[in-house]
Amino acid sequence: MSLQRPAVLTDDFMRGLVARVPSTSGGTWKLTEVYTGEHLVDLPQSTPADIERAFATAREAQRAWAATPLRRRLAVFKRAHEIFVANALTTADLIQAESGKNRRMAVEESCDPPMVMSHYLKRAPRLLAPKRHGGPVPVVSHSTEIRQPKGVVGIIAPWNFPFATGISDAIPALMAGNAVVLKPDNKTALSPLHGIAMLEQAGLPEGLFQVVCGEGPDVGPTLIDNASYVMFTGSTATGRTIGERAGRNLIGACLELGGKNPQIVLDDVDAEEWVSSTLFGVFGNTGQICMHIERIYLPDSRYDELKQKFVRAAAALDVRAAYDFGPEVGSLVSVDQMHRVLSHVEDAVAKGATVLTGGRPRPDLGPAFFEPTVLEGVTTDMLCGVTETFGPVVALHRYRSVDEAVELANDTDYGLNASVWGSDLERAQAVAARIESGNVNVNDALATAYASKSTPSGGVKQSGVGARHGDQGLLKYTDVQNLAVLKKQVLGPRPGQDYDAYVKQMLSGLRMMRRTRLR
Ligand code: NAD
Repeated sequence: MSLQRPAVLTDDFMRGLVARVPSTSGGTWKLTEVYTGEHLVDLPQSTPADIERAFATAREAQRAWAATPLRRRLAVFKRAHEIFVANALTTADLIQAESGKNRRMAVEESCDPPMVMSHYLKRAPRLLAPKRHGGPVPVVSHSTEIRQPKGVVGIIAPWNFPFATGISDAIPALMAGNAVVLKPDNKTALSPLHGIAMLEQAGLPEGLFQVVCGEGPDVGPTLIDNASYVMFTGSTATGRTIGERAGRNLIGACLELGGKNPQIVLDDVDAEEWVSSTLFGVFGNTGQICMHIERIYLPDSRYDELKQKFVRAAAALDVRAAYDFGPEVGSLVSVDQMHRVLSHVEDAVAKGATVLTGGRPRPDLGPAFFEPTVLEGVTTDMLCGVTETFGPVVALHRYRSVDEAVELANDTDYGLNASVWGSDLERAQAVAARIESGNVNVNDALATAYASKSTPSGGVKQSGVGARHGDQGLLKYTDVQNLAVLKKQVLGPRPGQDYDAYVKQMLSGLRMMRRTRLR
């Protein structure tokens, strides 16, 4: 199909980006434009030796970076914020070409790293400053909590938000004084490479942020074995493999995994607001958002009305390939992903589900397009009833009591994101608090929680370990040194003091400190 590719995506520009990937004899991978299937650039594939060299370079750069005063490290990100915002549209061009998402979503993704930079530029000085605490004996002892960088952080990122997961998760790690070695998905390596080029333009030392490319099982083991900490975003199955290896190596890991995210709509919902927001919550990024909604629970009393409004709006969505802001929904990331989505829909239909709208691939729009799809009658014996579909497919369910809705929402191994809708905010928040999920949005599907950078965001149950954002989103990339000082030798009996007398004195000291709240 013919589609005007953005002028900025020249062969020279893309070859310049992939030239950063170390590769001696690992061959290349053909990176294609998702909308058309046309070849964009050959992506070098890194061998284990290339990965070890990347770590050696990063380790050396990290020593100098960690010794650089925090104020100067942060100045890089102040400049980077400007550069990222000024280049948002070029970033969006790259994201669209490699992932097939629509332009509105690609531009929003390009804004995520600046938001993260802005948050931690404010917060990092306080988080990384040494904190003095009292020691065990008042006055004569104290202890200082010193935050030290872990070393070289390995980041493994998925294809659905390659720029956000590849760059945003690196920002607090770098601010804390670490180096980073990133492994993006082969399909979506261009936008994170562009992000690193922009960081270096802002003054990030060369060598500090490395990229290695290849299939996960080829690159993963060497990457994890060399890393001081692993930040992983991807599927629950891969997260388990990565967590096991990190555990064997006794390094920390943050695992941001999949979801089967529910939405409970209460009977006092404003239907118009709910429909327009939930269209994004279900079909945004063509349904390939870890936090997107795949199960909607509607109250019996308003089921028919809400179903009719939602299905009508879903059927009217503008789905097509374009590098402009027109389409509301873009392509899936690959033909493989399209087949996965199709298999979930076919399985559901074969087992008795009804397609209310959509349900078919759209090869006329591009090789990986799939219609926004609404299902009814989905049960837990169907693939899409229990496992993540990760596409533009949602199931509508009917509930009779709020207790039943909460029970159904929680009937999953996952716990990444949830959404509750209702006009009575207190009531909606009370329902939200009962959902077993790391994130819950009231009167939104996902964006409010994800964009609240001050609050940690992560999954519970099989959806992850640890969190990004908030204080722990930076502190996880540090080790604590407990630097304790004793000014006078008071721990233990004085010379000549018998032990009975010493113990009595120590026990009464403990009582006194508790009473006076000194310790
Ligand atoms: P995936 O697990 O297949 O791959 C993710 C990354 O891991 C890719 O770079 C891949 O190459 C790499 N990888 C695969 N096997 C590996 C191995 N054995 N060792 C090391 N690396 C390996 O996931 P995906 O299909 O690319 O992404 C979609 C999944 O990511 C969905 O489940 C989605 O919910 C999840 N996701 C979660 C979040 C979150 O924040 N919780 C965000 C985005 C995506």
